[in-house]
Amino acid sequence: MICPDCNGEKEVAALVHIDGSCKMEMCKCFICEGSGEVPDEFYRYKEEGIKHRVERTNRGETLGQCAKRLGWRVSEVSALERGKKWKTPLWRET
Ligand SMILES: [Zn+2]
Repeated sequence: MICPDCNGEKEVAALVHIDGSCKMEMCKCFICEGSGEVPDEFYRYKEEGIKHRVERTNRGETLGQCAKRLGWRVSEVSALERGKKWKTPLWRET
C-alpha cells in the first residue's frame, strides 16, 4: 500500500536544525524510508506497536532494557513500536 505518512511522495517536510536555527526541509520519509510504500498490514503493525509500547512502559521497562531482554538492537525495538515491524528481527523469523 502507499505510505500514509508521505502519501507515496517518498519525502516529508521535517524541521531540521542548522547552525542554531530551525527550518523546514524535505527529508526522506521515516516510515517507508523513501520507498513510498509500506506493507499492506501497516495499520495492524502500528496498533501492535502502540500496544507493545504501552505494555513495556507499564512494566517500567526502558527501550534499552527491552532490547537487551529480546536480544535486539534498541533501534529495532523502537521500529517495532513505531509500526515498522518489517524492520525488526520478528519480521525475519516469519
Ligand atoms: Zn513514506
